[in-house]
Amino acid sequence: MLADPELTTVVQVAPAVRSAWAEYFGLTPEQATPGVLASALRQLGFQYVFDTNFSADLTIMEEGAEILNRLTRYMNGDKSVRLPILTSCCPAWVKFVVDQYPDYKDNISTCRSPQGMLSAVAKEWYRDPERAEGKRTVMVSFMPCTAKKMEIKRPNSFTKGEQDTDHVLTTTELVRMIKSAGIDFANMECEEPDIPFGMASGGGKIFGVTGGVTEAVLRRLSPDHTKETMREIAECGVRGDDGIKEFSVPYKGMEIKVCVASGLANARTVMERVKNGEAEYHLIEVMACRRGCIMGGGQPVRAGDRTKAARAKGLYNADNTMLIKKSDENPMVLELYQGLLKGKEHKLLHNEFY
Ligand code: SF4
Repeated sequence: MLADPELTTVVQVAPAVRSAWAEYFGLTPEQATPGVLASALRQLGFQYVFDTNFSADLTIMEEGAEILNRLTRYMNGDKSVRLPILTSCCPAWVKFVVDQYPDYKDNISTCRSPQGMLSAVAKEWYRDPERAEGKRTVMVSFMPCTAKKMEIKRPNSFTKGEQDTDHVLTTTELVRMIKSAGIDFANMECEEPDIPFGMASGGGKIFGVTGGVTEAVLRRLSPDHTKETMREIAECGVRGDDGIKEFSVPYKGMEIKVCVASGLANARTVMERVKNGEAEYHLIEVMACRRGCIMGGGQPVRAGDRTKAARAKGLYNADNTMLIKKSDENPMVLELYQGLLKGKEHKLLHNEFY
């Protein structure tokens, strides 16, 4: 496909992939920049390189709005509101709820995952005949796990009858492609991902680590972006390695009760407590893999404690270097809402059913 002139090949790379792919090649985090990976992907033959962090920002825009909507209705006494809201970024967790806790199916956020959103939006972008130039668009994504391969086959991963993501490859499969192509990192030029889906806020960059989604949502709900506010959010209990984290944050006169869990055994503990009325939350974030996507089943195996810590640190470092911290301040995201997404937000960014 990469060599087929009849196709436009588009690739997206998840943040967790970026935290781990270079381990195989012995590159330091300073050497393994997103620009080096973008350059390697272009050498492999991909025409456009996009960043799943961009659609992580879109997820936060939509999920933040959904949480606000449900909380506001709840505060106004609407008893029909489904709380706690359950995050929807991890397809393994979504499947776990649908199969094992079907009574909570309607609590799942309707937002598509970042992979689903970017593929739907990018395919729509290339439906414009001028951009398509008569070619068919093939959307490939590099993801940290095989659950993402399952996600693209779900009936709600199609738009206008077309599958949004055509192929998913894991981090280890990416490494194999790079190795077999004999790419030489020593003489590699650093390049940028492509516009308009190549730019993200710091909030989008931390999605790959447990608590990252919640932290980005809390940033979105905060009225400012001062260093103090960002630090307060980071220190509210959302970060750290614990399998289950519980905390609350003040919001417009109420306390938002949050639970962040990683690993399905921990998710089961949380759901049993909710089901039995032993715990009450407004928001539950779950990542099926312990510590989040950085430890996904498609990542390089046998990661010791130092490697696990380094992967999480890599994502937090990427956030630290960003001037734009909040998803609602990403100019490319705002532009998209004024253009391509106008009137199509629900169709391209949400699931109709689970
Ligand atoms: Fe995949 Fe694990 Fe991330 Fe879920 S937490 S999306 S299963 S890597």
